[in-house]
Amino acid sequence: MSLLILYILFYGGVSMTTLNVGLGNRSYPIFIEDGYLQKVGVDLAERKVAARYCVIADDCVGELYGNTLLASLASGDIKAEMITFPRGEASKTLTTISNLASRLAQKGMGRKAGLIALGGGVTGDITGFLAATYMRGIPFVQIPTSLLAQVDSSVGGKTGVDIPEGKNLVGAFYQPQAVYIDCRVLSTLPKEELLSGLAEVIKYGVIREHEFLNFLDQNQQKIFDLDPEIISKMIKTCCRIKADVVEADEKEADLRRILNFGHTIGHAVEAASHFTIRHGQAVAIGMVAATRISVAKGIMDAGEAEWICSIIKKFELPMEVPKDLDRKAIKAYLLTDKKAVEGRPFFVLPTSIDRIIITDEVSEQQVDQVLG
Ligand code: NAD
Repeated sequence: MSLLILYILFYGGVSMTTLNVGLGNRSYPIFIEDGYLQKVGVDLAERKVAARYCVIADDCVGELYGNTLLASLASGDIKAEMITFPRGEASKTLTTISNLASRLAQKGMGRKAGLIALGGGVTGDITGFLAATYMRGIPFVQIPTSLLAQVDSSVGGKTGVDIPEGKNLVGAFYQPQAVYIDCRVLSTLPKEELLSGLAEVIKYGVIREHEFLNFLDQNQQKIFDLDPEIISKMIKTCCRIKADVVEADEKEADLRRILNFGHTIGHAVEAASHFTIRHGQAVAIGMVAATRISVAKGIMDAGEAEWICSIIKKFELPMEVPKDLDRKAIKAYLLTDKKAVEGRPFFVLPTSIDRIIITDEVSEQQVDQVLG
C-alpha cells in the first residue's frame, strides 16, 4: 500500500492537487495548480522554511518568470533575490556550483537562507546539489518549469552535476522542502523540450500503468495543444507514480531502478552525441531499444512491444539510433555507465505493460542488433 496521500482541494473552481512524498521527517508536498507561481510567496511564508531566499534560474527562465516569482515572494513578505547562470547542460558543472556558492557567500547568505530552483532539470539538479553542500546543507524548494522537470527531476531528491568522465557522477540525495508545479508555464516551453519531457511521461505508463498509457494514446492531440485539464491530469499521474516509487526505495537500492527504463542505452546515446540529442529524445530511443531486446529475448509479446513503439512514434519522438552516431562510442559509454556493475551494464526490460525486469543478461549481439 502506498503511503501517498492525495488531497483534492478546490480554490475558486480551479482544482489544486497536493501530493505528499512520504519519507518520514524528510517528507514534502507537491502542489500542482495552474497559475501557482503567483501563490508561492504566501505558501512559503507560512511554511517558514528559511529566513531569506535566493532564486537560482538559468538566463532563459530567469528572464521569463523571475520577476513574477520575486513579486509573488514579496507578496508573502519574503526577502529574496535571484542569481542566473547560462542555460543548458554545459552549465551542470562543479565550476557553476563554485561560482554560485561564491555569489551566495558574497550576498551574505548564511545557514538560515534557502534556495529556490526555478527552471528545468538542469537548474533543479544544480540548485539541489548547491543546497546540499553550501554551509553543509541549507533547505531548498523546487519550482520546475520544463515538462521533464515537472514530471520527473523535481521529485525524488537526486541532485548533482556532470564531470568530463560522465553525467551526474558527482551528486547527493537531498530532498526539497516542497515542489510547486504551475502547468501554465509550459506555454512558453519550446516544442522539442515538451517532447523531451513526454518521453519520461510515456516511461511511467510502460513501467507502472497500462491505463495511463491508454490515456496518453488517446489524448496525444490535446497534450500537444496543452489542454489544461489533460496536462494537469498527466502531470499528477506522473508525480504520483514517481512519489510512490521514491517512497518505496528512496536511494535506488531496488524498485527505483525501474525508473531507468530507456536510460541504459539512452544515456549512452546522449553521451555519444555529446549531448546534442536531448535527454528525453535519447530516452525514447533507449525505450524502443529495450523493448526490442525484450522481444528478441522472447520475454515480451511482439504486439505489446509494437504498441509501446507506436505511442513513442505518435509523440514525434525518435526511435532509431541516428546513423551518424559512432556505435563503438555508444558501447564504450554502456560499459562505463555508473549503474554498470563490474563492466556489465544493467538493462531495465519490459516483459509486459507495467511488468519490468532488471537484468545484465543481454548479449553483445542483442545490443548490436538494436543499435542497428
Ligand atoms: P533544462 O533545464 O536545460 O531545460 C531545457 C531548456 O528549456 C532550457 O533551455 C531552459 O531554459 C528551457 N526552459 C525551461 N522551462 C521553460 C519554460 N517554461 N519556458 C521556456 N523555456 C523553458 O533541461 P531539462 O530537459 O528540463 O532537464 C534535463 C536535465 O535533468 C538533465 O541534466 C538530466 O540529467 C536531469 N534529470 C534529472 C533527474 C533527477 O531525478 N534529478 C531526472 C531526469 C533528468
